[in-house]
Amino acid sequence: MSATLTDYAIVLSREAWREADKRVVFFTQHHGKIDGIAIGAHKIRSKLAGHLEPLRIAQVMLAKGKQGYKIAQCVTHHNFIRTDAVLERTKMMGALVRLARRATENEHKDEELYSLLSGGLSNLESAAAQELPRVYGNCLLDLAHHFGYAPMLGQCVACGDEQNLLRFSPHLGGVICAKEVVLEKTMPYKADDALLHTYVGALLTWRGLF
Ligand SMILES: [Zn+2]
Repeated sequence: MSATLTDYAIVLSREAWREADKRVVFFTQHHGKIDGIAIGAHKIRSKLAGHLEPLRIAQVMLAKGKQGYKIAQCVTHHNFIRTDAVLERTKMMGALVRLARRATENEHKDEELYSLLSGGLSNLESAAAQELPRVYGNCLLDLAHHFGYAPMLGQCVACGDEQNLLRFSPHLGGVICAKEVVLEKTMPYKADDALLHTYVGALLTWRGLF
């Protein structure tokens, strides 16, 4: 492995690290999730700082040292955050990157996830405000599917019936018909694209990923 690595990366999160540094978690196109340390990035004068804010794609150069990666360079390629002040949009994007951060291991290459995540953020960026819940639900469903946790929605997860699907069970991972008695917590279900995110979210929460 070479000492430096250059890649496109989605900035997942950024936090204070030691006294004057920042720890930034990237999801790179070709190398999976990588933590990088930006030395002295809290200083307002730091040219790097603005390029390390989450919810952007950046071209990043990381230098591997004894204690992990240092961020040598980072230049914004695309910022997903719009200036139209729809807070919900940014919150939904934040939820997608948190999920990607929690559900992955460092340096585990996953190019498909990189495309799903950048595609999802891009769809949320361009969606009209009233379309946001539906678009968010589909993005979340794609990611859940990728991680192996897609909910069963068209038929009862217990008996296979397609009628009277009135409740959703995060524990069983899908909808259940009116006949079933489930001891674990369930929630009311309605086949509505705008509500899809609540079911996928509940399933991922049950699995400890959300
Ligand atoms: Zn059933």
